[in-house]
Amino acid sequence: MEHLKTKIRHVPDFPKPGILFYDITTLLNDAQGFREMVDGLAAPHVAQRIDQVVGIESRGFILGAAVANRLNAGFVPIRKPGKLPSKTHREDYALEYGVDGLEIHEDALGQGQRVLIVDDVLATGGTAKAAAGLVRRVGGELVGLSFLIELNFLNGRSKLTGEAVHSVLQY
Ligand code: AMP
Repeated sequence: MEHLKTKIRHVPDFPKPGILFYDITTLLNDAQGFREMVDGLAAPHVAQRIDQVVGIESRGFILGAAVANRLNAGFVPIRKPGKLPSKTHREDYALEYGVDGLEIHEDALGQGQRVLIVDDVLATGGTAKAAAGLVRRVGGELVGLSFLIELNFLNGRSKLTGEAVHSVLQY
């Protein structure tokens, strides 16, 4: 899978100085790269009977929906505050570049449904930790978290102790 790195664009100082942004649009518009990316995200989970894939706004929607389809699972969005129309639960979290909140619909998951969380980048882990908390608050059984990119130097895994964390590419 390492060759997928050549298809990801690195944008320095976006969205603010000092951040190296991993731009996956250059991977998504490559049909073979897109398919291999979904292969890599889904592979560890094909035999795990995943009921729902939870994707985190916004790139997690693209990856998560494709992985859900591959795993014959449903898809559930976790969104930025104020975007989901029905009753929600909210958790606040620290981002590599700011502070924000996340929301999930209260009735998004059936009790005990087996869930895989998918996102593009695991950086400091704050986003993923908040998402894991939301999944459990609405009754989901969190089976694992799958990321395209893990930024090892930010040690996001330390916020996810006890979780099954998988990443396709590490930097
Ligand atoms: P964190 O909460 O620090 O793990 O940040 C993860 C979230 O922020 C993910 O949803 C990513 O889409 C986004 N993100 C954080 N750092 C980067 C980066 N260097 N390049 C692209 N996206 C990033």
